[in-house]
Amino acid sequence: MAVTRTFSIIKPDATRRNLTGAVTKMLEDAGLRVVASKRIHMTREQAEGFYGVHRERPFFGELVDFMMSEPVVVQVLEGEDAVAKNREVMGATNPADAASGTIRKELALSIGENTVHGSDSEENAAIEIAFFFKPEEIVG
Ligand code: GDP
Repeated sequence: MAVTRTFSIIKPDATRRNLTGAVTKMLEDAGLRVVASKRIHMTREQAEGFYGVHRERPFFGELVDFMMSEPVVVQVLEGEDAVAKNREVMGATNPADAASGTIRKELALSIGENTVHGSDSEENAAIEIAFFFKPEEIVG
């Protein structure tokens, strides 16, 4: 299977609880390699732009406010079939539905404060990576 890249965010509920390392370890243990990483405090423009696809959803305002509430860590992850592998280790959106051993089951607080974002397709991964990283910031 091909080595590919995906985009990840360690969300504010995790940075607030000092879980950046714990989340990263679970990603690494799943076979993903962090090839770019930076801690940022998202602006409203960034949060609204990044989650633009959810603009019509009832939770959009809450989601944007949450993503701006504390710093996040944006990362590029590399590995075999990275998008699917990352979605697997993340677990279901709602931690109540997530399989045991997944990041969201073990660490997430709620469906909104669910610890990590991960791209849902290779196409979106490329778009999301380019949203936050210049090519020279990614070192594989
Ligand atoms: P994901 O791909 O598993 O992150 O899920 P989605 O793309 O469906 O949703 C994007 C993000 O919106 C989720 O990770 C949650 O942080 C948030 N979200 C989704 N559903 C809800 C909800 O019902 N309430 C709230 N507050 N946030 C939600």
